[in-house]
Amino acid sequence: MSVFKYEKDADGIVVVTMDMTGPVNAMNAEYYQAMSETVTKLEQEEGLKGVVFASAKKVFFAGGDLNDLVKVDPDDVEAFFNGVEDTKAQLRRLEKLPVPVVAAINGAALGGGYELSLACNHRIAFNHKAVQIGLPECSLGLFPGGGGVVRLTKLIGVEAALPLILESKRLRPDAALKLGMIDATVDSLEELLPAAKAYINENPEAAIQPWDQKGYRVPGGPINSPKNAQLAVMAPTMLHQKSRGLMPQLTAAMDIAFQASMLDLDTALRIEGRNFAQIAAGPVAKNMISTFFFGLNKINGGASRPKDIAPMKTRKVGILGAGMMGQGIAYVSAMAGIEVVLKDISQDAAEKGKAYSEVLLNKRIKRGKMTEDKAKQVLDLILPTASNEDLQGCDLIIEAVFENIELKHKITKELQGYLSDDGFWGSNTSTLPITQLAEASDKPGNFIGIHFFSPVDKMPLVEIICGEQTSDEALAKAFDYTQQIRKTPIVVNDSLGFFTSRTFGTYLDEGCQLLAEGIHPARIDNLGKGIGMPVGPLQVFDETSLELSRKAQETWAEMGVTDKWGDGTVLRQVVKDMVTDNGRGGRHHGGGFYEYHSDGSKNIWPGLFDLYYKADVQIDDRDIQDRLMFRQVIETVKCLEGNVLRSVADGNIGSIFGIGAPAHTGGFLQFINTYGLEAFEQRCAELQTKFGDRFACPDIVRQTSAANKSFN
Ligand code: NAD
Repeated sequence: MSVFKYEKDADGIVVVTMDMTGPVNAMNAEYYQAMSETVTKLEQEEGLKGVVFASAKKVFFAGGDLNDLVKVDPDDVEAFFNGVEDTKAQLRRLEKLPVPVVAAINGAALGGGYELSLACNHRIAFNHKAVQIGLPECSLGLFPGGGGVVRLTKLIGVEAALPLILESKRLRPDAALKLGMIDATVDSLEELLPAAKAYINENPEAAIQPWDQKGYRVPGGPINSPKNAQLAVMAPTMLHQKSRGLMPQLTAAMDIAFQASMLDLDTALRIEGRNFAQIAAGPVAKNMISTFFFGLNKINGGASRPKDIAPMKTRKVGILGAGMMGQGIAYVSAMAGIEVVLKDISQDAAEKGKAYSEVLLNKRIKRGKMTEDKAKQVLDLILPTASNEDLQGCDLIIEAVFENIELKHKITKELQGYLSDDGFWGSNTSTLPITQLAEASDKPGNFIGIHFFSPVDKMPLVEIICGEQTSDEALAKAFDYTQQIRKTPIVVNDSLGFFTSRTFGTYLDEGCQLLAEGIHPARIDNLGKGIGMPVGPLQVFDETSLELSRKAQETWAEMGVTDKWGDGTVLRQVVKDMVTDNGRGGRHHGGGFYEYHSDGSKNIWPGLFDLYYKADVQIDDRDIQDRLMFRQVIETVKCLEGNVLRSVADGNIGSIFGIGAPAHTGGFLQFINTYGLEAFEQRCAELQTKFGDRFACPDIVRQTSAANKSFN
């Protein structure tokens, strides 16, 4: 029996219910077979009046099978292209049936699922928040190559289709309806099939796709029409500015959308297929699928969580310090329905921290994302206070006070007694070793690092740090809390700066090295962006604050820890030159490497040229870019080698979500896989000879390469 159930009713309408083996319907060999039989049967069906495509699964149709896609080899491009063409030819036959074909979308229709719907004459969806519609392929290094770019462009026009495709948007049915991506919605699942059949009965002539009708013009017109001149110039410029040419799938998708607006459907589909095969076989697709699909699934599926501990829900969280971080942690916790006690040294400071949530909630109300009632409920969950007693009974306390070990020790001793019996203590320190912080705790097993990133409401990552004595229960608690507040947890072992701060530190350090060698500061920052980092090293150092770095160095010196990532001499000197000698502590301290103006503009601080710039210093762009990239990659490998990182997936996801590693690389460890382990070793050796031992390749690369393995 086919996995596509075929039922014809008395009116001559055939309902094809997709019910493939496994949890979802997906485009794979089984699909191809079932679709082939179904289309042939429909073509031969006598008295056929219409067709409805429905799903027996929760999800309407999940799209391409990523297990297959990640394996496409550059040598197989031709065979893969032929396979794609065959799959698309089936959809073409489906849309050429002489009767209306309706997609009855009961659940998510993303990627291939929406492409299948686009090949139908009419799309009706169940209007529910679990039903997502869209083409998210670009976020995985691919583009909608099953007809998605071409048909969506033809349906709603280039200007409307491009953002949906390039930004991988997923929409709820009501939003998709407004944009013309679907044609109708129903409010209950029971209405779906009857509505699909009613459409067929009422519109027997609706069998020809708009693009197959004579004289059809794409909405907004073809891209070469004079009124699209601005779009034709601006869209590629803006795309390049955003992706810096590092995301070939985006460039290809835009190009195909442009062509689809001018060419007939079949020609455009063929161009789409050719490009798709190239992109699928390329490194960016492999990197992004490996990390954003397989890696992220591993992490979110709890691979780093101790297995035999029952789920641990957080009910009441105490947050110490209502500053920049504490106020953000309070907001995300309250948004997840957790009761929050937000404590600072004065009631006033605590109230200010709560006011931050009010601002964010008001923005949500204004954008129509939340009702006033719901916002009030969230805000009411936050109790601002200066009184210790209010912390009584918290099952989790997270401290986010100043980065000072004595202060952190003091408040741990003072306040741990307020935790419930089975309560846990988390520190949001960004650098201080958890094992040392836990020395102040009566129960070091219940002490753990819960490291957030700024701004907390936007950044998706939390780095959980296990100290030497941290128990499995504490890890499970921190992991579950992180998921409760809808963030992605990576789990690492203790080390000065853990994984993220330590690796990020090398980016700043190398920026300072280049500066001290005399390279023009604008060139350093531009080349940092050129490798795909969101911001150059000097600019980002200004943002995170040179003053904070000076303070951290002071604290480490007091604690007797020496800088473990590089010898740090140059960075210390630059920080001294800038902060101590010239009072330039960074953006929030009146300026740093840059001067910031009230109109939002900025320029390089002129004093920087006197301090460092040497016009005659010559270093290739490629060397500068590799220095900025390799420092971070080498540090990540050291974290893996030294067991700070517990898994490759944590290293890849943590580097992208926490540090801003270029997404097209799939993260700092996946970068080596694609570069080639041997080639990476060789390049490290070259950089080491030219620029110093900080580029020495860690042994683990050689060992992994000798074992014929990669970082997986
Ligand atoms: P902040 O200076 O903005 O806030 C610190 C707050 O702690 C202040 O409101 C202060 O009044 C309060 N405080 C001081 N002593 C207190 C006490 N005894 N009891 C209660 N509150 C007290 O600092 P921040 O940027 O929010 O950083 C806080 C912590 O988070 C630090 O450990 C920092 O390293 C870490 N962190 C910061 C960032 C970042 O980007 N700023 C990122 C990750 C982690």
